[in-house]
Amino acid sequence: MAQKLAAGNWKMNGTEASLAEIDKMLAAYPEPGCKVLICPPATLLDRLSTRIGDGPIATGAQDCHMKASGAHTGDISADMIKDAGGTYAILGHSERRTDHGESDEVVKAKSAAAVGAGLIAVVCVGETEAQRDAGQTLDVVGTQLAGSVPDDVTGETLVVAYEPVWAIGTGRVPTIEQIAEVHDFIREKLVDRFGAETGNAVSLLYGGSVKPSNAAEIFAVANVDGALVGGASLKADDFGAIIDAL
Ligand code: 13P
Repeated sequence: MAQKLAAGNWKMNGTEASLAEIDKMLAAYPEPGCKVLICPPATLLDRLSTRIGDGPIATGAQDCHMKASGAHTGDISADMIKDAGGTYAILGHSERRTDHGESDEVVKAKSAAAVGAGLIAVVCVGETEAQRDAGQTLDVVGTQLAGSVPDDVTGETLVVAYEPVWAIGTGRVPTIEQIAEVHDFIREKLVDRFGAETGNAVSLLYGGSVKPSNAAEIFAVANVDGALVGGASLKADDFGAIIDAL
């Protein structure tokens, strides 16, 4: 049985002042009913992790380099994420695939580095609107999944997030049937590749315009074990309502 996970991806948002939202959330959710993860920008990871301490909320990064150290200006390694208190890393987000040209091969190497260092890899997949319109959704997601997820993972070290690119930050959400179809497909592919025990233990998150108003309906879908939330994770009230719905 996969763990329920409410994950917040702050993207390139947040400064010291934003940490007040975390104080508010910790006060409102001293014992959340599911696993909660916040991935702030790298500049805040250490401060956020320190603020949260050993509490119920985990922290993570939004990317990590595939190498352990060296001449890679501007990058951070999995060990640095751990050193800053993070336990997760998001890999292969569509914004990184687009902005930084990350291929499945690169995402796989980064994910392997994260898992190898003891982090939990949140590997993102999802089709563009043109690909969905062309009937290629499952092909695209299947190819990304096969190419981006490293071989050496378990239900404890891998999370997969399905984020249709056209639903990210747009207020548009796939139908419940569309979400169910892709999540069932991802589960099937993971079971085929890793066996039933591991495949069924991987948490599958839906991401793309998740809000307090649509979270419960999305979480009721089979094989949706939680959400990867962008905009709505920046406000304690909104993210709290999503945690409640899970
Ligand atoms: P929004 O929730 O803002 O649509 O972003 C989703 C996302 O990309 C999370 O990684």
